[in-house]
Amino acid sequence: MIIKYIKVKTALSKSGLKELDYSLNPYLGCAFSCPYCYAPMFTPNEEASENWGKVIVVKENLLDVLKKEVKTIRKGVVGVSTITDPYQPVEAIKKLTRESVNLLLENGFRVSIQTKSPLVIRDLDIFLKYKNKVDIGFTVTSLESQLEPNAPPPKARIMALRKLSENGLETWLFVGPIIKGINDHEVLKIIEEVSDIKTRIIFDSFHYYKGLKFKEGSKEWWNKIRDEILKLCKKYYLECHEEREDWVYEKRKYYKPLF
Ligand code: SF4
Repeated sequence: MIIKYIKVKTALSKSGLKELDYSLNPYLGCAFSCPYCYAPMFTPNEEASENWGKVIVVKENLLDVLKKEVKTIRKGVVGVSTITDPYQPVEAIKKLTRESVNLLLENGFRVSIQTKSPLVIRDLDIFLKYKNKVDIGFTVTSLESQLEPNAPPPKARIMALRKLSENGLETWLFVGPIIKGINDHEVLKIIEEVSDIKTRIIFDSFHYYKGLKFKEGSKEWWNKIRDEILKLCKKYYLECHEEREDWVYEKRKYYKPLF
């Protein structure tokens, strides 16, 4: 793994996702290099984008810039992160995610974290201090297959999800992308696995981006999968949503949309 350093002018950027006001990406590039990842196409650094999984760019002055922004920018919901995993291995040493999340929370922002890494547990002390202002989501796409060989084992992610939930934090499990013929047979097993955890479930199908090796499934295929998921969620009294936007309103109770 090659680590590079850059200086940035801004820390928070306007998010294109409806459920978020801002996104914050402490790193560019991602060591987990999932085969369905479309983040390289949105990564504003050629070296990281073209050497996905091999080059990680650290925003070395991120905290200095963020310290100024949190005092001047209107409060809102910040997604950490949107084009890289905020708790990939480099974070164990650099701690940019930890310090950024702390800064955002202590300055009145709401933080929504999405990761595949149990390293997020390290920051439990911060999350507990700002319990109502943070939610943590884990992505799990498979229990058995080698779909993401470079990311932490799915069972370790579920254990971390359980721990955060047991500590009273708002958590969610993202089951996706669901890819026809690749991991669609595992989806119900994943939901069974978390059925005793107090967590929200969000699921979504694979969406094709140029260059990715998988194909989108048909509408009929997706309708069948969706019905099966919703039926299973009902059986276990789990709160299930297709895509994240469905539960945005809950966060918006605290922050009016900015954009
Ligand atoms: S963890 Fe997320 S950002 Fe990283 S490679 Fe996988 S899908 Fe892409």
